[in-house]
Amino acid sequence: KKLDANKDQVVMKSENDKALSAPYEKASATFVSLARNSDLWDLIDSIRMVEDRFNHRYHYDWVFLNDDEFTEEFKDTISRYVSGKATFGLIPKEHWGFPEWIDKEKAALVREQMRNDKVIYGDSIPYRHMCRYESGFFWRHPALDPYKFYWRVEPHIKLFCDIDYDVFKFMEEKKLKYGFTISLYEYETTIKTLWKTTKEFIDANPQYVSPNSLMDFISDDKGETYNRCHFWSNFEVASLDFWRGEAYQKYFEHLDKAGGFFYERWGDAPVHSLAASLFLDKDEVHYFQDIGYWHNPFSNCPTEKEERLRLKCTCNPARDHDNNFTWKDYSCTPKFFNAKGLQRPKGWEDQT
Ligand code: GDP
Ligand code: MN
Repeated sequence: KKLDANKDQVVMKSENDKALSAPYEKASATFVSLARNSDLWDLIDSIRMVEDRFNHRYHYDWVFLNDDEFTEEFKDTISRYVSGKATFGLIPKEHWGFPEWIDKEKAALVREQMRNDKVIYGDSIPYRHMCRYESGFFWRHPALDPYKFYWRVEPHIKLFCDIDYDVFKFMEEKKLKYGFTISLYEYETTIKTLWKTTKEFIDANPQYVSPNSLMDFISDDKGETYNRCHFWSNFEVASLDFWRGEAYQKYFEHLDKAGGFFYERWGDAPVHSLAASLFLDKDEVHYFQDIGYWHNPFSNCPTEKEERLRLKCTCNPARDHDNNFTWKDYSCTPKFFNAKGLQRPKGWEDQT
């Protein structure tokens, strides 16, 4: 235990190439969790894993956001488990609700149809507010103003492996803007006109599209159609400045005016993913294969056994319940490897 602590210190200081006595200089970064008061204990599960596997060495701050006032019970309890500074933010009403240009009757009919069609969250109003908020507003919350990077953490997730380096410094040093662990196909019914609406935007604003984009990740026909691939946004390590930038702000506004957050059920995951895949250079988007992660019902478990043992992972790709989703049919990560021309880790064929 004692040895470990010493080792950590040495690593952290030499990484930074500072004098031995200099304090470790963290990145400008925070965790961020959107949550309800009722999410308290599922969120504690997540926080405990993040602290144990990573943050106990770095003490990054944590921002909690809610459309309702957090209770004293929530704030007091959470604050005890977070090793950095915890901030609790209330979401302003203008950022969580129906914008005035939305026809509420039309939206209600859509929800009814989706209820009959048994579309997951298809009949939910709050879920739609949540998706719209995560797409267009969380990064405008003043509690996030001091930071350049964030790591999104949801209640009831798992981290399977040690994270033995500073993920935020890694983003900064490699000039990365978006990092993910799991990617997959979106349900067609929830995004029927998302690509059409996106195309309108990029046709009118071609200057925002990167000449070295990840178009091949999101489209199998050079942008004619959307293949429904998206990064699963319940885990994100990303740049706040990317969302704050002109391209994304205008893109969000265009989507928001089109109404698909309410007339369909556009998720923040495909919205973030389309933006990252179009506006960023593919070198700015990173797959964290070494971050063992679970969000019901999928896992990212490091493919190589050596890596899993080195990082003391508790997942096992051979086991059903924490199987590695990465190389499965429904994962889009193989497409990401192709789009970037990355070499696949050894043994991936055995995990398809
Ligand atoms: P799923 O992952 O798509 O099944 O959706 P979740 O239920 O996990 O919701 C995504 C995130 O938004 C989680 O961090 C939830 O805690 C949060 N969330 C969902 N609905 C609400 C809501 O109505 N209010 C608040 N404050 N947070 C919400
Ligand atoms: Mn979730």
